Amino acid sequence: MSDPMTPAEWRTALKAEGVRFTEYDGWTTRGRDAATGKPFGPVHGSLNHHTAGSNSLKSIATGGRPDLPPPLAHAYLPKSGTVVLVSCHRANHAGLAARNAYDAIVAEKPIPKPSRASGTVDGNDSLYGVETENLGDGKDTYTREQYDAWVRYNAAICRHHGWGAGSVAGHLETSVEGKVDPRGPVEGYGTRGRFTFSMTQLRADVAERLKHAASWSPPTKSTPPPAPTPRPSTVEERLTALEKRVTALEKK
Ligand SMILES: [Zn+2]
Repeated sequence: MSDPMTPAEWRTALKAEGVRFTEYDGWTTRGRDAATGKPFGPVHGSLNHHTAGSNSLKSIATGGRPDLPPPLAHAYLPKSGTVVLVSCHRANHAGLAARNAYDAIVAEKPIPKPSRASGTVDGNDSLYGVETENLGDGKDTYTREQYDAWVRYNAAICRHHGWGAGSVAGHLETSVEGKVDPRGPVEGYGTRGRFTFSMTQLRADVAERLKHAASWSPPTKSTPPPAPTPRPSTVEERLTALEKRVTALEKK
């Protein structure tokens, strides 16, 4: 059982993990706690989404949708890779989670296919949510900066709470409402070139980060080291070389 991060804890955790972020006006007080009459939490995991649109910051923070009051996440992650914090309270992002998938996240076990028959849980009560900018058409690409920030963001939450990467999930893994997010190709990460996004890969990358200090950065594509510039030789060095050559000639 974990209390949700306070604004100060969000800032500290993200900074330590090397996440660039900004704070959307009112994010420390904005939330949907009143809808349930109790405060957000205890928290049990980090749920990941794609926006299925572009420039969604305003709708996520203050606009909402006709059927869903804002905020629609705790954080927005655009293509630039700079996270925008929009809420630290209860947010409308998870909807109904299947009990079997939810329990697996809490226990950090492999997540089974979400089954409505197992019962449902209101994921908004206990899951952090990040909306990562992507059209979700399977073609739109997550940028390298965006994916790197995404891994760092999830690791920051896990590290703060003492969780493993098993506490990281995708909306498609919990939803009983047919959600498919997040998905789409990734431009690259570390030494890896373009690859297809999967929650398995995101969790593996978060797990790798958690093995290192928060300040760690993944190795990037290795560039060949620059050729050594020859040091101008001194008169003495040149004479020694000459001597060696003469000696070698004499031996012939
Ligand atoms: Zn979603």
